[in-house]
Amino acid sequence: MPTNKTFTMIKPDAVQGGNSGAIIKMIEEAGFRIVAAKKTKLSAERAGEFYAVHSERPFYTDLCAYMSSGPIIPMILEKENAVADFRKLIGATNPANAEEGTIRKLYAQSVEANAIHGSDSDENAAIEGSFFFAHTEQF
Ligand code: UDP
Ligand code: MG
Repeated sequence: MPTNKTFTMIKPDAVQGGNSGAIIKMIEEAGFRIVAAKKTKLSAERAGEFYAVHSERPFYTDLCAYMSSGPIIPMILEKENAVADFRKLIGATNPANAEEGTIRKLYAQSVEANAIHGSDSDENAAIEGSFFFAHTEQF
């Protein structure tokens, strides 16, 4: 069965840079339906919880500082094959390696400030979605 939901967040650099509208337009034009969305801000501690899987990596402390540096827009998205199709739409982690036309190629500043998150599996999409949204917030 293909996946039908994924989780994303527009990161502080893209929100601050005024690119959230253009990014959401790309997401909708690619056929994703927004199931839940809000604007919020993470503390460094809460960013650390979200990225706990990377806690042993050298970039972890900087990543937590960056992810708590300004507002973000978390969203739950729906589409057939959502997880894989969305990773394709956002492009490689490092924008220098991202394909032309991808969100990161167009809007990322650096490997850290790379504009947008996309879940890497169905399991993580469910975990990450519930990190930000109660089930009843989804439409
Ligand atoms: N990141 C970083 N330096 C690196 C690799 C990753 O700052 O060398 C940041 C970047 O913001 C990335 C996030 O950590 O999006 C999570 O890393 P992951 O490898 O899971 O990349 P993603 O799944 O977001 O493409
Ligand atoms: Mg990842």
